[in-house]
Amino acid sequence: MPVVSVEEDPGPPSSVPPLRVAVVGAGPAGIYAAEALTRQDDVPVAVDLLDRLPTPFGLVRHGIAPDHPKMRAIRDTLHRALDHPSVRFVGNVEVGRDLDCADLARTVDAVVYTYGAALDRHLAIPGEELPGSLAATDLVAWYTGHPDADRARVEAALAGARSVVVVGVGNVALDVARVLARTPAELEPTDMPQHVLDALAAAPVGSVTVLGRRGPAHATFTTQELRELDELAQATVLVDPADLELDPAAEERAAADRVVSRNLAVLREWAGHTLEPGRTPLRLRFYTRPVRLVGEERVTGVEVERTVVDAEGRASGTGELEVLPADLVVRSVGYRGSGLPHLPLDERRGTVPNEGGRVLRDGQRAPGEYVAGWIKRGPTGVVGTNKHDARETVAALLEDVAAGVLRPGRGGGDDLVSELRANGADPVLLEDWRAIDAAEVALGATRGRARTTLHEWESLLAAVKEAAARAR
Ligand SMILES: Cc1cc2nc3c(=O)[nH]c(=O)nc-3n(C[C@H](O)[C@H](O)[C@H](O)COP(=O)(O)OP(=O)(O)OC[C@H]3O[C@@H](n4cnc5c(N)ncnc54)[C@H](O)[C@@H]3O)c2cc1C
Repeated sequence: MPVVSVEEDPGPPSSVPPLRVAVVGAGPAGIYAAEALTRQDDVPVAVDLLDRLPTPFGLVRHGIAPDHPKMRAIRDTLHRALDHPSVRFVGNVEVGRDLDCADLARTVDAVVYTYGAALDRHLAIPGEELPGSLAATDLVAWYTGHPDADRARVEAALAGARSVVVVGVGNVALDVARVLARTPAELEPTDMPQHVLDALAAAPVGSVTVLGRRGPAHATFTTQELRELDELAQATVLVDPADLELDPAAEERAAADRVVSRNLAVLREWAGHTLEPGRTPLRLRFYTRPVRLVGEERVTGVEVERTVVDAEGRASGTGELEVLPADLVVRSVGYRGSGLPHLPLDERRGTVPNEGGRVLRDGQRAPGEYVAGWIKRGPTGVVGTNKHDARETVAALLEDVAAGVLRPGRGGGDDLVSELRANGADPVLLEDWRAIDAAEVALGATRGRARTTLHEWESLLAAVKEAAARAR
Protein backbone atom coordinates (compact mmCIF):
# COMPACT_ATOMS: atom_id res chain seq x y z
CA MET A 1 0.00 0.00 0.00
CA PRO A 2 1.53 3.37 -0.99
CA VAL A 3 2.34 5.75 1.85
CA VAL A 4 0.58 9.09 1.40
CA SER A 5 1.71 12.07 3.42
CA VAL A 6 -0.94 14.27 5.08
CA GLU A 7 -0.04 17.21 2.79
CA GLU A 8 -0.48 15.13 -0.35
CA ASP A 9 -3.82 13.59 0.63
CA PRO A 10 -6.56 15.77 -0.84
CA GLY A 11 -9.10 14.14 1.54
CA PRO A 12 -12.74 13.53 0.73
CA PRO A 13 -14.33 16.22 -1.46
CA SER A 14 -16.51 17.56 1.35
CA SER A 15 -13.43 18.58 3.35
CA VAL A 16 -12.15 20.86 0.58
CA PRO A 17 -12.83 24.44 1.65
CA PRO A 18 -14.71 26.38 -0.98
CA LEU A 19 -13.02 29.06 -3.05
CA ARG A 20 -14.41 32.31 -1.65
CA VAL A 21 -15.35 34.68 -4.44
CA ALA A 22 -16.76 38.20 -4.08
CA VAL A 23 -18.69 39.48 -7.09
CA VAL A 24 -19.05 43.28 -7.02
CA GLY A 25 -22.34 44.31 -8.68
CA ALA A 26 -25.54 42.26 -8.76
CA GLY A 27 -26.59 43.29 -12.26
CA PRO A 28 -26.84 40.75 -15.10
CA ALA A 29 -23.05 40.33 -15.41
CA GLY A 30 -22.63 39.69 -11.68
CA ILE A 31 -25.55 37.30 -11.53
CA TYR A 32 -24.39 35.40 -14.63
CA ALA A 33 -20.88 35.21 -13.12
CA ALA A 34 -22.32 33.77 -9.88
CA GLU A 35 -24.37 31.31 -11.94
CA ALA A 36 -21.33 30.18 -13.97
CA LEU A 37 -19.34 29.70 -10.76
CA THR A 38 -22.03 27.49 -9.22
CA ARG A 39 -22.72 25.51 -12.40
CA GLN A 40 -19.41 23.67 -12.39
CA ASP A 41 -18.31 20.75 -10.23
CA ASP A 42 -14.52 21.08 -10.36
CA VAL A 43 -14.08 23.78 -7.73
CA PRO A 44 -16.42 24.18 -4.73
CA VAL A 45 -17.27 27.86 -4.38
CA ALA A 46 -18.93 30.26 -1.93
CA VAL A 47 -20.00 33.43 -3.69
CA ASP A 48 -20.81 36.78 -2.04
CA LEU A 49 -22.71 38.88 -4.57
CA LEU A 50 -22.35 42.50 -3.44
CA ASP A 51 -24.38 45.50 -4.59
CA ARG A 52 -24.50 49.09 -3.41
CA LEU A 53 -28.30 48.97 -3.71
CA PRO A 54 -30.47 46.88 -1.39
CA THR A 55 -32.00 45.37 -4.54
CA PRO A 56 -30.45 43.08 -7.16
CA PHE A 57 -30.66 43.15 -11.01
CA GLY A 58 -28.80 46.39 -11.89
CA LEU A 59 -30.11 47.93 -15.11
CA VAL A 60 -32.75 45.23 -15.46
CA ARG A 61 -34.46 47.06 -12.57
CA HIS A 62 -33.13 50.58 -13.17
CA GLY A 63 -32.54 50.75 -16.94
CA ILE A 64 -34.87 48.56 -19.00
CA ALA A 65 -37.94 50.65 -19.73
CA PRO A 66 -40.88 49.99 -17.39
CA ASP A 67 -43.24 49.78 -20.38
CA HIS A 68 -41.30 46.66 -21.50
CA PRO A 69 -42.68 44.20 -18.93
CA LYS A 70 -41.62 41.10 -20.87
CA MET A 71 -38.02 42.27 -20.97
CA ARG A 72 -38.09 43.25 -17.29
CA ALA A 73 -39.43 39.77 -16.45
CA ILE A 74 -35.91 38.48 -17.13
CA ARG A 75 -35.41 39.13 -13.42
CA ASP A 76 -37.39 35.95 -12.71
CA THR A 77 -34.71 33.98 -14.58
CA LEU A 78 -31.89 35.91 -12.90
CA HIS A 79 -33.44 35.21 -9.50
CA ARG A 80 -32.70 31.50 -9.85
CA ALA A 81 -28.97 32.19 -9.47
CA LEU A 82 -29.63 34.21 -6.30
CA ASP A 83 -31.50 31.26 -4.78
CA HIS A 84 -28.49 28.92 -5.14
CA PRO A 85 -27.23 27.79 -1.70
CA SER A 86 -23.64 28.73 -2.58
CA VAL A 87 -24.59 32.30 -3.47
CA ARG A 88 -25.21 35.00 -0.84
CA PHE A 89 -26.72 38.30 -1.98
CA VAL A 90 -25.15 41.12 0.05
CA GLY A 91 -26.91 44.38 -0.85
CA ASN A 92 -26.56 47.89 0.57
CA VAL A 93 -22.77 47.52 0.49
CA GLU A 94 -20.78 49.87 -1.70
CA VAL A 95 -17.23 49.04 -2.66
CA GLY A 96 -15.36 52.31 -2.31
CA ARG A 97 -17.49 53.39 0.68
CA ASP A 98 -18.04 50.41 3.01
CA LEU A 99 -14.88 48.59 1.97
CA ASP A 100 -12.33 48.86 -0.82
CA CYS A 101 -10.63 46.57 -3.28
CA ALA A 102 -7.68 46.04 -0.90
CA ASP A 103 -10.09 44.91 1.88
CA LEU A 104 -11.66 42.46 -0.54
CA ALA A 105 -8.28 41.08 -1.62
CA ARG A 106 -7.45 40.47 2.06
CA THR A 107 -10.75 38.73 2.80
CA VAL A 108 -11.71 36.54 -0.17
CA ASP A 109 -9.78 34.35 -2.61
CA ALA A 110 -10.93 36.07 -5.81
CA VAL A 111 -12.97 39.14 -6.82
CA VAL A 112 -15.03 39.55 -9.98
CA TYR A 113 -15.85 43.21 -10.65
CA THR A 114 -19.19 43.62 -12.44
CA TYR A 115 -20.18 47.12 -11.34
CA GLY A 116 -21.37 48.37 -14.73
CA ALA A 117 -20.86 51.70 -16.48
CA ALA A 118 -23.25 54.16 -14.88
CA LEU A 119 -21.87 57.56 -15.96
CA ASP A 120 -23.37 59.48 -18.88
CA ARG A 121 -21.39 60.92 -21.75
CA HIS A 122 -21.67 64.65 -22.46
CA LEU A 123 -22.32 66.54 -25.70
CA ALA A 124 -19.65 69.11 -24.79
CA ILE A 125 -21.64 72.03 -26.21
CA PRO A 126 -22.51 75.41 -24.62
CA GLY A 127 -25.69 75.45 -22.51
CA GLU A 128 -25.54 71.78 -21.63
CA GLU A 129 -25.74 72.49 -17.88
CA LEU A 130 -28.86 74.71 -18.11
CA PRO A 131 -31.97 73.63 -16.19
CA GLY A 132 -34.13 71.68 -18.62
CA SER A 133 -31.12 69.76 -19.96
CA LEU A 134 -30.90 66.20 -18.66
CA ALA A 135 -28.86 63.10 -19.35
CA ALA A 136 -30.89 60.02 -20.25
CA THR A 137 -29.26 58.43 -17.18
CA ASP A 138 -31.01 61.07 -14.99
CA LEU A 139 -34.40 60.53 -16.57
CA VAL A 140 -34.13 56.73 -16.67
CA ALA A 141 -32.98 56.59 -13.01
CA TRP A 142 -35.99 58.73 -12.08
CA TYR A 143 -38.65 56.84 -14.05
CA THR A 144 -37.40 53.46 -12.86
CA GLY A 145 -37.34 54.61 -9.21
CA HIS A 146 -33.57 54.47 -8.56
CA PRO A 147 -33.09 55.67 -4.96
CA ASP A 148 -30.28 58.04 -6.02
CA ALA A 149 -32.34 59.74 -8.76
CA ASP A 150 -32.42 63.55 -8.55
CA ARG A 151 -36.18 63.79 -8.31
CA ALA A 152 -36.40 67.58 -7.83
CA ARG A 153 -34.21 68.34 -10.87
CA VAL A 154 -35.98 65.90 -13.21
CA GLU A 155 -39.46 66.97 -12.13
CA ALA A 156 -38.57 70.67 -12.49
CA ALA A 157 -37.34 69.96 -16.03
CA LEU A 158 -40.48 67.99 -16.90
CA ALA A 159 -42.92 70.51 -15.44
CA GLY A 160 -42.46 72.96 -18.31
CA ALA A 161 -41.73 70.45 -21.05
CA ARG A 162 -43.89 71.13 -24.09
CA SER A 163 -41.28 70.54 -26.78
CA VAL A 164 -38.84 67.75 -26.04
CA VAL A 165 -35.64 67.08 -27.99
CA VAL A 166 -33.84 63.77 -27.47
CA VAL A 167 -30.26 63.68 -28.76
CA GLY A 168 -29.12 60.25 -29.93
CA VAL A 169 -30.47 57.40 -32.02
CA GLY A 170 -29.83 54.28 -29.95
CA ASN A 171 -32.35 52.13 -28.09
CA VAL A 172 -32.08 54.20 -24.89
CA ALA A 173 -32.98 57.37 -26.84
CA LEU A 174 -36.03 55.58 -28.24
CA ASP A 175 -36.99 54.36 -24.72
CA VAL A 176 -36.92 57.95 -23.49
CA ALA A 177 -38.88 59.31 -26.49
CA ARG A 178 -41.48 56.55 -26.17
CA VAL A 179 -41.99 56.92 -22.42
CA LEU A 180 -42.41 60.71 -22.79
CA ALA A 181 -44.90 60.31 -25.65
CA ARG A 182 -47.06 57.71 -23.91
CA THR A 183 -50.43 58.50 -22.35
CA PRO A 184 -51.06 58.05 -18.60
CA ALA A 185 -53.29 55.06 -19.39
CA GLU A 186 -50.44 53.36 -21.27
CA LEU A 187 -48.06 53.83 -18.33
CA GLU A 188 -50.49 52.86 -15.57
CA PRO A 189 -49.78 49.07 -15.77
CA THR A 190 -46.02 49.59 -15.34
CA ASP A 191 -44.15 49.36 -12.01
CA MET A 192 -43.15 53.05 -12.09
CA PRO A 193 -43.40 54.83 -8.73
CA GLN A 194 -46.64 56.76 -8.30
CA HIS A 195 -44.96 60.20 -8.27
CA VAL A 196 -43.38 59.35 -11.66
CA LEU A 197 -46.76 58.48 -13.15
CA ASP A 198 -48.22 61.69 -11.71
CA ALA A 199 -45.39 63.90 -13.01
CA LEU A 200 -45.52 62.33 -16.48
CA ALA A 201 -49.30 62.72 -16.59
CA ALA A 202 -48.98 66.40 -15.63
CA ALA A 203 -46.14 67.18 -18.07
CA PRO A 204 -47.46 69.20 -21.01
CA VAL A 205 -45.44 67.24 -23.66
CA GLY A 206 -46.77 68.30 -27.07
CA SER A 207 -43.95 67.15 -29.35
CA VAL A 208 -40.89 64.90 -29.20
CA THR A 209 -38.02 65.20 -31.69
CA VAL A 210 -35.21 62.64 -31.83
CA LEU A 211 -31.94 63.84 -33.41
CA GLY A 212 -29.30 61.73 -35.13
CA ARG A 213 -26.08 63.43 -36.27
CA ARG A 214 -25.58 60.82 -38.98
CA GLY A 215 -28.02 59.18 -41.39
CA PRO A 216 -30.54 56.39 -40.72
CA ALA A 217 -28.04 53.78 -41.92
CA HIS A 218 -25.82 54.67 -38.92
CA ALA A 219 -28.52 54.66 -36.24
CA THR A 220 -27.88 51.99 -33.59
CA PHE A 221 -31.47 51.25 -32.56
CA THR A 222 -32.90 47.80 -33.21
CA THR A 223 -35.87 47.24 -35.51
CA GLN A 224 -38.17 45.93 -32.79
CA GLU A 225 -37.55 49.00 -30.62
CA LEU A 226 -38.03 51.27 -33.65
CA ARG A 227 -41.32 49.64 -34.70
CA GLU A 228 -42.79 50.18 -31.27
CA LEU A 229 -42.79 53.94 -31.79
CA ASP A 230 -45.62 53.48 -34.26
CA GLU A 231 -47.76 51.61 -31.74
CA LEU A 232 -48.27 54.50 -29.32
CA ALA A 233 -51.85 55.44 -28.51
CA GLN A 234 -51.53 59.20 -29.05
CA ALA A 235 -48.33 59.81 -31.02
CA THR A 236 -47.57 59.72 -34.74
CA VAL A 237 -44.03 59.08 -35.99
CA LEU A 238 -42.88 61.52 -38.67
CA VAL A 239 -39.82 61.09 -40.88
CA ASP A 240 -38.61 63.44 -43.61
CA PRO A 241 -38.37 61.40 -46.85
CA ALA A 242 -35.28 63.47 -47.83
CA ASP A 243 -33.42 61.94 -44.84
CA LEU A 244 -33.99 58.49 -46.32
CA GLU A 245 -32.21 59.15 -49.61
CA LEU A 246 -28.97 57.22 -49.24
CA ASP A 247 -25.58 57.85 -50.78
CA PRO A 248 -23.69 54.83 -52.22
CA ALA A 249 -21.76 54.21 -48.94
CA ALA A 250 -24.98 54.15 -46.90
CA GLU A 251 -26.62 51.88 -49.54
CA GLU A 252 -23.69 49.51 -49.17
CA ARG A 253 -24.04 49.55 -45.40
CA ALA A 254 -27.74 48.75 -45.68
CA ALA A 255 -27.05 45.89 -48.10
CA ALA A 256 -24.49 44.39 -45.72
CA ASP A 257 -26.45 44.70 -42.47
CA ARG A 258 -29.91 43.20 -42.04
CA VAL A 259 -30.82 45.39 -39.04
CA VAL A 260 -29.99 48.52 -41.06
CA SER A 261 -32.03 47.39 -44.07
CA ARG A 262 -35.00 46.47 -41.85
CA ASN A 263 -34.80 49.80 -40.04
CA LEU A 264 -34.80 51.60 -43.38
CA ALA A 265 -37.83 49.64 -44.55
CA VAL A 266 -39.72 50.67 -41.39
CA LEU A 267 -38.66 54.32 -41.73
CA ARG A 268 -39.77 54.35 -45.38
CA GLU A 269 -43.22 53.09 -44.36
CA TRP A 270 -43.46 56.08 -42.05
CA ALA A 271 -42.23 58.69 -44.49
CA GLY A 272 -45.79 59.01 -45.80
CA HIS A 273 -47.35 59.72 -42.37
CA THR A 274 -49.34 62.89 -41.83
CA LEU A 275 -50.18 64.34 -38.44
CA GLU A 276 -53.82 64.21 -37.45
CA PRO A 277 -55.09 66.94 -35.13
CA GLY A 278 -54.81 66.11 -31.43
CA ARG A 279 -51.94 63.66 -31.86
CA THR A 280 -48.39 64.19 -30.59
CA PRO A 281 -45.73 64.41 -33.32
CA LEU A 282 -42.73 62.15 -32.68
CA ARG A 283 -40.19 63.28 -35.25
CA LEU A 284 -37.06 61.36 -36.20
CA ARG A 285 -34.54 63.80 -37.71
CA PHE A 286 -31.25 62.59 -39.15
CA TYR A 287 -28.14 64.50 -40.35
CA THR A 288 -28.73 66.99 -37.52
CA ARG A 289 -26.39 67.73 -34.64
CA PRO A 290 -26.87 70.05 -31.69
CA VAL A 291 -24.29 72.85 -31.44
CA ARG A 292 -25.71 74.86 -28.52
CA LEU A 293 -28.54 74.78 -26.02
CA VAL A 294 -30.32 78.12 -26.07
CA GLY A 295 -31.82 79.83 -22.98
CA GLU A 296 -31.13 82.10 -20.02
CA GLU A 297 -32.82 80.67 -16.92
CA ARG A 298 -33.56 77.34 -18.54
CA VAL A 299 -33.46 75.69 -21.95
CA THR A 300 -35.75 77.27 -24.54
CA GLY A 301 -34.27 75.76 -27.69
CA VAL A 302 -31.52 73.79 -29.38
CA GLU A 303 -29.41 75.28 -32.11
CA VAL A 304 -28.75 72.49 -34.59
CA GLU A 305 -26.55 72.16 -37.66
CA ARG A 306 -27.23 70.10 -40.74
CA THR A 307 -24.49 67.53 -41.34
CA VAL A 308 -23.07 65.45 -44.15
CA VAL A 309 -21.64 62.00 -43.62
CA ASP A 310 -18.51 60.82 -45.45
CA ALA A 311 -17.82 57.31 -46.78
CA GLU A 312 -16.20 56.33 -43.43
CA GLY A 313 -19.37 57.33 -41.57
CA ARG A 314 -17.95 60.55 -40.07
CA ALA A 315 -20.39 63.46 -39.73
CA SER A 316 -19.30 67.04 -40.34
CA GLY A 317 -21.25 70.29 -40.16
CA THR A 318 -22.48 72.12 -43.27
CA GLY A 319 -22.84 75.49 -41.51
CA GLU A 320 -26.61 75.36 -42.09
CA LEU A 321 -28.03 76.34 -38.67
CA GLU A 322 -31.53 76.37 -37.22
CA VAL A 323 -33.01 76.74 -33.72
CA LEU A 324 -35.54 74.10 -32.68
CA PRO A 325 -37.85 75.09 -29.81
CA ALA A 326 -37.20 72.87 -26.77
CA ASP A 327 -38.08 73.12 -23.08
CA LEU A 328 -36.52 69.77 -22.28
CA VAL A 329 -33.39 68.33 -23.90
CA VAL A 330 -32.38 64.77 -23.07
CA ARG A 331 -28.96 63.63 -24.26
CA SER A 332 -28.61 59.93 -24.85
CA VAL A 333 -25.14 59.58 -26.29
CA GLY A 334 -23.75 56.71 -24.30
CA TYR A 335 -22.62 55.48 -20.92
CA ARG A 336 -19.14 55.04 -19.52
CA GLY A 337 -17.59 53.30 -16.55
CA SER A 338 -15.84 54.96 -13.64
CA GLY A 339 -13.04 53.80 -11.39
CA LEU A 340 -13.01 52.27 -7.93
CA PRO A 341 -10.27 53.10 -5.41
CA HIS A 342 -7.24 50.81 -5.94
CA LEU A 343 -8.60 49.36 -9.20
CA PRO A 344 -7.08 50.39 -12.56
CA LEU A 345 -9.28 52.15 -15.13
CA ASP A 346 -8.72 52.88 -18.80
CA GLU A 347 -10.02 56.47 -18.69
CA ARG A 348 -10.49 56.74 -22.44
CA ARG A 349 -12.60 53.60 -22.79
CA GLY A 350 -14.20 53.80 -19.35
CA THR A 351 -13.41 50.14 -18.68
CA VAL A 352 -11.11 48.18 -16.37
CA PRO A 353 -8.09 47.00 -18.41
CA ASN A 354 -8.37 43.24 -18.80
CA GLU A 355 -7.40 40.25 -20.88
CA GLY A 356 -10.41 37.99 -21.45
CA GLY A 357 -11.72 39.02 -17.99
CA ARG A 358 -8.40 38.92 -16.07
CA VAL A 359 -7.68 42.37 -14.66
CA LEU A 360 -4.41 43.86 -15.88
CA ARG A 361 -2.33 46.04 -13.58
CA ASP A 362 0.44 47.85 -15.47
CA GLY A 363 -0.14 45.39 -18.32
CA GLN A 364 0.35 42.33 -16.06
CA ARG A 365 -2.35 39.90 -14.95
CA ALA A 366 -3.41 40.63 -11.37
CA PRO A 367 -3.92 37.26 -9.66
CA GLY A 368 -7.39 36.89 -8.16
CA GLU A 369 -8.95 39.92 -9.86
CA TYR A 370 -11.46 39.58 -12.70
CA VAL A 371 -14.01 41.71 -14.48
CA ALA A 372 -17.22 41.08 -16.47
CA GLY A 373 -20.11 42.96 -18.09
CA TRP A 374 -20.16 46.62 -19.08
CA ILE A 375 -17.15 47.54 -16.95
CA LYS A 376 -15.17 44.87 -18.84
CA ARG A 377 -16.18 45.49 -22.45
CA GLY A 378 -17.96 48.88 -22.44
CA PRO A 379 -21.67 49.73 -22.55
CA THR A 380 -22.80 47.57 -25.47
CA GLY A 381 -25.03 44.59 -26.02
CA VAL A 382 -28.24 43.26 -24.54
CA VAL A 383 -28.74 41.50 -21.20
CA GLY A 384 -27.89 38.10 -22.73
CA THR A 385 -24.53 39.39 -24.01
CA ASN A 386 -23.39 39.50 -20.39
CA LYS A 387 -23.96 35.77 -20.01
CA HIS A 388 -21.28 34.81 -22.56
CA ASP A 389 -19.09 37.58 -21.22
CA ALA A 390 -19.37 36.37 -17.60
CA ARG A 391 -18.77 32.77 -18.65
CA GLU A 392 -15.53 33.78 -20.38
CA THR A 393 -14.38 35.50 -17.18
CA VAL A 394 -15.32 32.58 -14.94
CA ALA A 395 -13.54 30.17 -17.31
CA ALA A 396 -10.38 32.29 -16.87
CA LEU A 397 -10.81 32.21 -13.08
CA LEU A 398 -11.21 28.42 -13.06
CA GLU A 399 -8.15 28.06 -15.31
CA ASP A 400 -6.20 30.04 -12.72
CA VAL A 401 -7.39 27.67 -9.99
CA ALA A 402 -6.30 24.68 -12.09
CA ALA A 403 -2.92 26.35 -12.68
CA GLY A 404 -2.44 26.95 -8.94
CA VAL A 405 -2.55 30.76 -9.28
CA LEU A 406 -5.64 30.76 -7.07
CA ARG A 407 -6.41 28.47 -4.17
CA PRO A 408 -9.01 28.38 -1.40
CA GLY A 409 -7.85 30.13 1.76
CA ARG A 410 -5.66 32.57 -0.20
CA GLY A 411 -7.73 35.52 1.07
CA GLY A 412 -7.74 34.10 4.55
CA GLY A 413 -9.97 36.74 6.16
CA ASP A 414 -13.14 36.47 8.20
CA ASP A 415 -16.67 36.16 6.96
CA LEU A 416 -17.34 39.19 4.76
CA VAL A 417 -20.79 39.97 6.17
CA SER A 418 -19.57 39.74 9.79
CA GLU A 419 -16.66 42.05 8.94
CA LEU A 420 -18.97 44.52 7.24
CA ARG A 421 -21.32 44.55 10.23
CA ALA A 422 -18.41 44.97 12.62
CA ASN A 423 -17.37 48.03 10.59
CA GLY A 424 -20.80 49.62 10.82
CA ALA A 425 -22.29 48.64 7.45
CA ASP A 426 -25.85 47.35 7.25
CA PRO A 427 -25.87 44.56 4.65
CA VAL A 428 -29.19 43.54 3.11
CA LEU A 429 -29.38 39.78 2.48
CA LEU A 430 -31.64 37.70 0.24
CA GLU A 431 -34.49 37.42 2.76
CA ASP A 432 -34.35 41.23 3.16
CA TRP A 433 -34.62 41.70 -0.59
CA ARG A 434 -37.62 39.33 -0.52
CA ALA A 435 -39.21 41.67 2.05
CA ILE A 436 -38.67 44.64 -0.31
CA ASP A 437 -40.09 42.60 -3.17
CA ALA A 438 -43.20 41.72 -1.14
CA ALA A 439 -43.64 45.35 -0.03
CA GLU A 440 -43.54 46.51 -3.68
CA VAL A 441 -46.14 43.94 -4.70
CA ALA A 442 -48.34 44.95 -1.74
CA LEU A 443 -47.97 48.66 -2.61
CA GLY A 444 -48.91 47.93 -6.22
CA ALA A 445 -52.01 46.01 -5.10
CA THR A 446 -53.35 49.11 -3.31
CA ARG A 447 -53.80 50.64 -6.80
CA GLY A 448 -54.64 47.48 -8.73
CA ARG A 449 -51.11 47.24 -10.16
CA ALA A 450 -48.83 44.18 -10.15
CA ARG A 451 -46.04 46.15 -8.42
CA THR A 452 -45.02 49.69 -7.55
CA THR A 453 -41.29 50.32 -7.21
CA LEU A 454 -40.11 51.65 -3.84
CA HIS A 455 -37.88 54.56 -4.81
CA GLU A 456 -36.42 55.95 -1.58
CA TRP A 457 -33.60 54.56 0.51
CA GLU A 458 -35.78 55.07 3.59
CA SER A 459 -38.75 53.09 2.24
CA LEU A 460 -36.53 50.29 0.89
CA LEU A 461 -34.75 49.86 4.23
CA ALA A 462 -37.99 50.33 6.20
CA ALA A 463 -39.49 47.36 4.31
CA VAL A 464 -36.53 45.28 5.51
CA LYS A 465 -36.84 46.44 9.12
CA GLU A 466 -40.62 45.95 9.24
CA ALA A 467 -40.31 42.39 7.93
CA ALA A 468 -37.57 41.64 10.49
CA ALA A 469 -39.73 43.06 13.30
CA ARG A 470 -42.69 40.92 12.19
CA ALA A 471 -40.49 37.81 12.15
CA ARG A 472 -39.36 38.36 15.79
C1 LIG B 1 -31.51 52.66 -20.15
C2 LIG B 1 -31.12 51.26 -20.55
C3 LIG B 1 -32.07 50.42 -21.08
C4 LIG B 1 -31.72 49.12 -21.46
N1 LIG B 1 -32.68 48.31 -22.00
C5 LIG B 1 -32.36 47.05 -22.36
C6 LIG B 1 -33.37 46.21 -22.92
O1 LIG B 1 -34.53 46.60 -23.09
N2 LIG B 1 -32.99 44.94 -23.25
C7 LIG B 1 -31.71 44.47 -23.06
O2 LIG B 1 -31.44 43.31 -23.35
N3 LIG B 1 -30.74 45.27 -22.54
C8 LIG B 1 -31.04 46.54 -22.19
N4 LIG B 1 -30.07 47.35 -21.68
C9 LIG B 1 -28.69 46.82 -21.53
C10 LIG B 1 -28.52 45.98 -20.23
O3 LIG B 1 -29.22 46.61 -19.18
C11 LIG B 1 -27.02 45.82 -19.92
O4 LIG B 1 -26.46 45.01 -20.94
C12 LIG B 1 -26.73 45.16 -18.58
O5 LIG B 1 -27.52 45.65 -17.53
C13 LIG B 1 -25.25 45.35 -18.20
O6 LIG B 1 -25.01 44.54 -17.09
P1 LIG B 1 -23.88 44.83 -15.99
O7 LIG B 1 -24.12 43.80 -14.95
O8 LIG B 1 -22.56 44.93 -16.63
O9 LIG B 1 -24.20 46.29 -15.40
P2 LIG B 1 -25.41 46.84 -14.53
O10 LIG B 1 -26.71 46.26 -14.98
O11 LIG B 1 -25.27 48.31 -14.56
O12 LIG B 1 -25.12 46.31 -13.04
C14 LIG B 1 -24.09 46.85 -12.25
C15 LIG B 1 -24.46 46.71 -10.77
O13 LIG B 1 -23.33 47.12 -9.99
C16 LIG B 1 -23.78 47.88 -8.87
N5 LIG B 1 -22.68 48.74 -8.42
C17 LIG B 1 -22.18 49.83 -9.05
N6 LIG B 1 -21.15 50.35 -8.35
C18 LIG B 1 -20.99 49.57 -7.26
C19 LIG B 1 -20.11 49.60 -6.14
N7 LIG B 1 -19.15 50.54 -6.04
N8 LIG B 1 -20.24 48.67 -5.17
C20 LIG B 1 -21.20 47.70 -5.26
N9 LIG B 1 -22.08 47.64 -6.30
C21 LIG B 1 -21.96 48.54 -7.30
C22 LIG B 1 -24.98 48.65 -9.41
O14 LIG B 1 -25.85 49.07 -8.36
C23 LIG B 1 -25.62 47.61 -10.33
O15 LIG B 1 -26.58 46.84 -9.65
C24 LIG B 1 -30.39 48.65 -21.29
C25 LIG B 1 -29.43 49.52 -20.75
C26 LIG B 1 -29.79 50.81 -20.39
C27 LIG B 1 -28.75 51.73 -19.81
